[in-house]
Amino acid sequence: MITCPWCATSYAAFQPNCSNCGGPLPAEQPHAEAELDWPPPAPRPFLDSYAWRLAMAQGGTIAGGVLAILGGVFSFVGVLLTMGLITAIVGMPMFLIGAVLFIVGAILLRNGYNQALNTVNVLRFGEAVRGQVCDVQQNLMVRVNNRNPWVIDYQFRLNGVEYTGQVTTLQTLDAHWRVGADVCVLYLPADPRQNTLYPHP
Ligand SMILES: [Zn+2]
Repeated sequence: MITCPWCATSYAAFQPNCSNCGGPLPAEQPHAEAELDWPPPAPRPFLDSYAWRLAMAQGGTIAGGVLAILGGVFSFVGVLLTMGLITAIVGMPMFLIGAVLFIVGAILLRNGYNQALNTVNVLRFGEAVRGQVCDVQQNLMVRVNNRNPWVIDYQFRLNGVEYTGQVTTLQTLDAHWRVGADVCVLYLPADPRQNTLYPHP
């Protein structure tokens, strides 16, 4: 069994690239506990569609999609009602409400996609550095597929500057994920605030 270190998809047999995210899969299963896994050098191949898949796994983006669809339907029905003179009194406000819903939804969708695109850029072009886990918490406020996501906070140091990052995952975490544990962090040299963990938990 091989698990993709970039998106945590599992495969029964080895293949060179993950079909979910497009990232390179390691030839062999990770090994010794104490050793950190380091990613292959940048640039790495990732599928453009992976950004959408990442975005649509976020609550805010899903809500944005629902709002945009609802807003679109509302506006459309509103326009139809406005064309009938008697129903225009209902149609006009309906169109306005629909338009507002659509705009809010579109903004949420765009923000979610841009954020996911940033993450994919970190995976593609990120440099690796050693960091430390500073907090591991289960988010009991959120439930997805009957599970509470884990939130991992980590920090790393570059040229004397301390940076922090956070990764959320629905995977079951093994004992490796404890406060103080060394982790490999991928960051964009142009903007280290854009960072993520490797392998993705
Ligand atoms: Zn993958």
